[in-house]
This record gives sequence, structure tokens and C-alpha cells, in this order.
Amino acid sequence: MNTQLYAPGYKAKPYWWDHTPRPALNEVPLPEKVDVVVIGSGYTGLCASLETTRGGRHTLVIDAQDAGWGCSTRNGGQVATGLSVGYERLVRKHGKALGYAIAREGHNALAWICDFIEAESISCEFRRSGRFCGAHSLRAYEALARMYGRPPPQGLETDCHMVTQADLRSEIDSDFYHGGVVHPRHAALNPARFHQGLLTRAIDDGVSVIANCAASGIDKSGSGFVVNTTKGSIVTHDVVVATNGYTGHATPWLRNRIVPLGSYILATEPLSKDVIDRLLPHDRMMTDTRKMVVYYRTCPERRRILFGGRVSVREEDAHSLAPALHRQMVQIFPELSATRISHMWMGFVGFSFDRLPHLGRQDGIYYSMGYCGSGIALSGYMGMRIGQQVLGLAEGDSPLNRVRYQGRPYYWGKPWFMVPALHYYKWRDALT
Ligand SMILES: Cc1cc2nc3c(=O)[nH]c(=O)nc-3n(C[C@H](O)[C@H](O)[C@H](O)COP(=O)(O)OP(=O)(O)OC[C@H]3O[C@@H](n4cnc5c(N)ncnc54)[C@H](O)[C@@H]3O)c2cc1C
Repeated sequence: MNTQLYAPGYKAKPYWWDHTPRPALNEVPLPEKVDVVVIGSGYTGLCASLETTRGGRHTLVIDAQDAGWGCSTRNGGQVATGLSVGYERLVRKHGKALGYAIAREGHNALAWICDFIEAESISCEFRRSGRFCGAHSLRAYEALARMYGRPPPQGLETDCHMVTQADLRSEIDSDFYHGGVVHPRHAALNPARFHQGLLTRAIDDGVSVIANCAASGIDKSGSGFVVNTTKGSIVTHDVVVATNGYTGHATPWLRNRIVPLGSYILATEPLSKDVIDRLLPHDRMMTDTRKMVVYYRTCPERRRILFGGRVSVREEDAHSLAPALHRQMVQIFPELSATRISHMWMGFVGFSFDRLPHLGRQDGIYYSMGYCGSGIALSGYMGMRIGQQVLGLAEGDSPLNRVRYQGRPYYWGKPWFMVPALHYYKWRDALT
């Protein structure tokens, strides 16, 4: 190991897990019969289960690994409106009314998570930090200025403001960007603590959660289903699939529609307060306009920088990509060239082909997934909505129910096209 790159005590696991270890759940036997089985114990699954259990349905959440082992305890903690397709494109593709309603869902999700954390008193270092998106080129800056210069339709306002290159140092001590835009409503949280809070609420409200219990298949049976798992079979009236970027062979229809893509994060060793205060004076969540996404922030204690992104066109184990991710961080902050890495990890985000999240019901099975890398607010919000749909509540309806969830010919869950696609993105970033 290159000792100059890694801090003593280096861990190839999420920084968040140091303070919020993987939950030790009481061992409970697999029930024979429940009303609802939720597959996947991340934000989507837990928020769905909170609705169904509070609606009086005996609900079981199962996870193939520890509770919350997927993206929900690994992410960057940047809370945004989430949709990666802009309003104008939505309108072009889906018409004015549906396009607007879909765009609103991003805003609804952000408002929902802020209210939810407060209403449930979940202690997760949540704060309205705002989020800065840096322009990696002059053209990117001009494109941002054009996009945010047009007044948005009522209900889609973001209160954002442009930051010119001359004023850049008010946001970041770096020469890398040509200015950028600040979204003041966006927020920060500690993802593992948010998950822990959700898990505690769900269990306190009567949800059974069984870890290390992988669903291997779902069979139709009478008016319901039998879910086959590594711990046995369960008879249930309803099933919710909440496996997002980890969706596998148990649900082939969904596996053929979700594209898992690795996202990688490092944590630096502790830095001095002076350095942190200078590099990121407003302590916002940070990202930029490149297609090969990067995102970064300080940790809640404001001692380290957590820096994430897509560093390679191929999936590799997180540790082997640490040097490449470190180089990306140093491109933005040259003075961190000698700063060592204390943690390095990755997780699989779930993309859809149309870059929209999807929820609905197929062959009687409910699902919600495809948040395209920006799912903290969306996954909880849509998990809640799908839980309401299980209960048959009118408020569970989402405009995203009316968008067809499509796969692609010759796609069966292994994204063979990602290598050329990511090469193209790199080329675009260099050119624009
Ligand atoms: C490195 C990284 C950084 C990210 N940063 C951000 C960010 O800053 N902001 C943001 O908004 N979003 C971010 N995201 C995305 C966000 O974390 C996800 O969109 C969100 O957590 C999805 O939650 P989920 O519950 O749908 O899925 P997950 O949390 O991934 O949960 C899915 C679960 O399903 C389980 N599972 C899979 N198959 C089975 C089976 N057969 N049986 C039982 N269980 C199964 C898995 O074990 C897993 O625990 C990031 C993601 C990653 C990986």
C-alpha cells in the first residue's frame, strides 16, 4: 500500500459507519404470513414500511445484507430536488401538464424530507447548507446562466443565484471553476444517522426487519404472493420491491430496467480548521457541471473533506480507485496533494434509461427505484408514496406512475454499454 496516500488506520468502508455502526437487530424467526413484504431496507423500503405499518398492515422488511447496507448508509448526504431531467425536456417529452407535474415531484420530495425529519425528530445532522454547482468551463457557466436566467414556472422556483468567477472565492478556494450557481434550499445530512433514525421509527411502530435474508424469487399465490428467501418462504398479500441499484434475479422485470452504476467516495484525514474554513467557507454541498459527476462536502464535524465521484469507466473495487479519486480532488484543491485518505468506499446507484425515477405496480408487485444517483429525498418520498399505494390511498398517486418504465433490447441487468458511454461523457467534459 502507498503509505503516503493512506492515513494510519485507513479503512476501506464508509466513513459514516465509524459513528453509526451496522445495526445489530434482534434475531426474529421468519414469519409464515404477513400482509406486506418489503424487499430492501434502505430509505425506500423503510419509508414504504412506515406507511403500511401505520396503515395497520403487518409489514416485514427483509434485506440480503445488514439493514441499510446499500446506498442509504453510503451516500454523500447531499439533499437536493433530485430529478436529473430539466423542466423543459420533461415538457418536450411528456407534454406540459405531466412534464410540470413530474418536475414538481422533485420539489415535493425536497420539501417532504425537510418536514419529515422534523416531524419524526430524526437526529441526523440535517441542515439547510445550500448546494453549489461549479461550472467546469466558460461554456458550462454560460449554459447555467441561460438556464437559471429564465424565470421558472410558478411552483418550480429554486431561489438560486449565480456566482461569477470573480466572486468564486466566496464559495470555494479553487481556480478550477468558471463560476457556478448556488441552490440555497438544498441541504446536508448524515446518511447513516438518517437511516438509523428511520430504522428505529419503523421498528418502534411495529415493522419487523430481518437482515441477511435475500429474496430469491416471488411466486403468485391465490390473491397474494409467496416470497422465497434464503431463510424460507413467506406468504403475503402485497410485495414492495425497494432494491434500487442492487436489484437482481429475484425480480427479472425490474432488473431489466435498472442500470447499476458504481459511485465512489473517499474521506480525507482530519484537516485543520483554517484550511477547511478557507477551502469551503460556506460549508455547502458541492458538485459541478461535468458529466463524469463529482460531489464533495465537509463531514458534519467539519474536520474532513468527503469527495465522491465516478472515476473510472469500469467498475473496480473502491480501494483500487482511491488514487484516481484523490487525483480528482487535487485537481480542484491542489493544496490537498499531500493529504491522506482515511476511508474509501463505493455503492451502486440505480439509473433508469430515461433518467427518471419510477414507481408503480407490475404483475401485482409494487416497486420504486431509479433515482439516478440523487435519491436521498426522492427515495424516501417515493417510498412513502408506494406505501400509500399499497394501502389504496388516493394521495399515494404520483405523476411518475404515468411514465412507462422501459428497458432496452439486449439489456438483462449487466450494463455492457457503460464503458463506451462513460468514454463519451469524458470526451464531452473535455470538449465543453
Ligand atoms: C456513493 C454514493 C453516493 C451517493 N450520494 C448521494 C447524495 O449525496 N445525494 C443523494 O440524493 N443521493 C446520493 N446517492 C444515492 C442514494 O444513496 C440512493 O438513491 C438511495 O439511498 C436509494 O435508497 P434505496 O432504499 O432505494 O436503495 P438502497 O439503499 O441501495 O437499498 C437497497 C437494498 O436492497 C437490498 N437488496 C437487494 N437485493 C435484495 C434481495 N434480493 N433480497 C433482499 N434485499 C435485497 C440491498 O442489500 C440494499 O440494502 C449516493 C449513492 C452512492 C452509492
